[in-house]
Amino acid sequence: MFKKILIANRGEIACRVMRTARRMGIATVAVYSDADAEALHVREADKAVRIGPPPSAQSYLNIERIVAACRETGVEAVHPGYGFLSENHLFAEALAKAGIVFIGPPAAAIAAMGDKIASKKLAQVAGVASVPGNLEVIPDAETAARIARGIGYPVMIKASAGGGGKGMRTAYNDAEAREGFGSATHEAKSSFGDDRVFIEKYIEEPRHIEIQVLGDSFGKVIYLGERECSIQRRHQKVIEEAPSPFLDAKTRAAMGAQAVALAKAVNYRSAGTVEFIVDRQRNFYFLEMNTRLQVEHPVTEMATGLDLVEWMIRIAAGEPLPFAQTDIKFAGSAIEARVYAEDPRRNFLPSIGRLVRYRPPEGDGIRVDAGVDEGAEIGVNYDPMIAKLVAHAATRAEAIRRLRGALDAFYIRGPRHNIDFLAALIAKKRFAEGRLSTDFIADEFPRGFAAEVGPDEVERFVLAAGAAQFIAAERDARIEGQVSADASIERDWVVCLGHARHPLAIARDGARLAVERDGKRHEIATDWRPGEPLLRATIDGTAAIFQIDRAGIGFTLTHGGGALDLKVLTPRAAELLARMPEKQAPDLSRFLLSPMPGLLVSLAVAEGQEVRTGDTLAVIEAMKMENVLRAERHGTIKTLRAKAGDSLGVDQVILEFA
Ligand code: ADP
Repeated sequence: MFKKILIANRGEIACRVMRTARRMGIATVAVYSDADAEALHVREADKAVRIGPPPSAQSYLNIERIVAACRETGVEAVHPGYGFLSENHLFAEALAKAGIVFIGPPAAAIAAMGDKIASKKLAQVAGVASVPGNLEVIPDAETAARIARGIGYPVMIKASAGGGGKGMRTAYNDAEAREGFGSATHEAKSSFGDDRVFIEKYIEEPRHIEIQVLGDSFGKVIYLGERECSIQRRHQKVIEEAPSPFLDAKTRAAMGAQAVALAKAVNYRSAGTVEFIVDRQRNFYFLEMNTRLQVEHPVTEMATGLDLVEWMIRIAAGEPLPFAQTDIKFAGSAIEARVYAEDPRRNFLPSIGRLVRYRPPEGDGIRVDAGVDEGAEIGVNYDPMIAKLVAHAATRAEAIRRLRGALDAFYIRGPRHNIDFLAALIAKKRFAEGRLSTDFIADEFPRGFAAEVGPDEVERFVLAAGAAQFIAAERDARIEGQVSADASIERDWVVCLGHARHPLAIARDGARLAVERDGKRHEIATDWRPGEPLLRATIDGTAAIFQIDRAGIGFTLTHGGGALDLKVLTPRAAELLARMPEKQAPDLSRFLLSPMPGLLVSLAVAEGQEVRTGDTLAVIEAMKMENVLRAERHGTIKTLRAKAGDSLGVDQVILEFA
């Protein structure tokens, strides 16, 4: 076995690979850019080598520099993680030349699967079903429309070099096919330096289901079941689970057999993933093969009990796989949620900043893979993922319940994050029923995400806020030295929620609080102390975790994907508050604001021009994605306030309507 390996990556995946290496008694070397000098992966490694300035191209993508770091530290092998150089066959070749083992597939398999057009041709030969379409490179917009018509709408225009959901457009008619050709080509060029696109049938209401394969150097390939990753936003995975609630044993076996056939066709070795898109009739079609460890591999690990990184390392060291297909057993259900630094309330625009507070949850069946700790900086240079939260349990329903509790307890302050959105998502009835598709988020959140609290849940928020205020008042009374504290504590409180007033009468009853509301009695048990970020309470026998933040004279409570600002006041103070004038929010509907920081690529309109709902107004590039801003109503353009080439801040005015 290797004595020392280098991890050519950062963040959670670097930490995750090191965890297994350490357990196997292998020493670890980290690499880092200047932005990561104090990062967790650097601190956790036995040794760390600086490889360059923050931009990835000059550090984590710098093959020469990383190979040099391998030489300097005398490592025998390199694990590439995912992203960065993990699917770069030139990196695998450079390592081979330097006599260093690449913990991954052969360079030829990476190259064969690195291009969507080439890999689909290969899949056809291997007898693997692909999405119906046309595997020719599209030369121009007119041809795009003609070929799309031939395939039959809707279609998907895709970058052959694509990845990460970039360079991908759906089209429902000729006009969209022409426009999609232009923007997909442009995005592909800027993201991958390769503007080849092709067109395939768009499968409607599809599910994304992928098969994990594992192959050794002796020609044995097995599959470790599937992961369903249908919950996506902009073709990027948000929630993944194993097993899929949709597959039957027959379909699973058929998909597994095709995945293994494809892997064998390219002499695959190591862990890899064959992605399929599955339609409502359970027809499945090959999408692409990822020749590396996937972000969502933990759900497979939890469902099979196997450590994929361990097997990647063992296989790279020349060990044969000691198990057969029939030895692979699945237990329970595992669900992963990706926690990102982004603002779901503002169309998920990326967020950055210091993790002022970072408290991951713990518990039975809970796994958190993170590359950060409190105080870490989420910057602009890299992927905005903060952590992966995985819950495993005997049944899917129980795994969902555990994941909900863990999301409620995951306390992050600093950058904006998507935890409440994830909680709201998995709280949906349709999620519980397993009726998933890649349209799930668009269908279930048609107007975006607003962290709403359901009417039946409001009462629990009101009671929790009342309890928190009462406990804070008890403590104040104690601090003020009043010996028999409870005698002097206010009994009557009013919870103010917007204009609504909820009067409560609260009294201590031993370890519990007795609360009267609308003539009904409630019982609350909590050991919360003022200042703690989590209020764990049992309200009328049901346990719940609320995140609690001071907000002016009130609290913000967050739970189950909803957040409310509540003030708990004495009746007199509540009356005074009711008489205060309210602030009016300014009317911004006459302006087109930039929803994210980015580059204004183009403006599609001129001053004085009339536009109709849906017309393109501007194109903004942010995080290497092109975002088309469209008119939300009919109107006339009065003034342009920005020009192509400008860098825009969030909410910067782009143009004004008359
Ligand atoms: P990338 O390499 O950028 O991740 P993929 O080909 O793996 O691109 O596709 C990503 C996602 O896009 C899929 O999971 C699916 O949601 C959607 N998608 C891709 N191709 C199709 C298609 N033909 N029909 C419907 N959805 C598709």
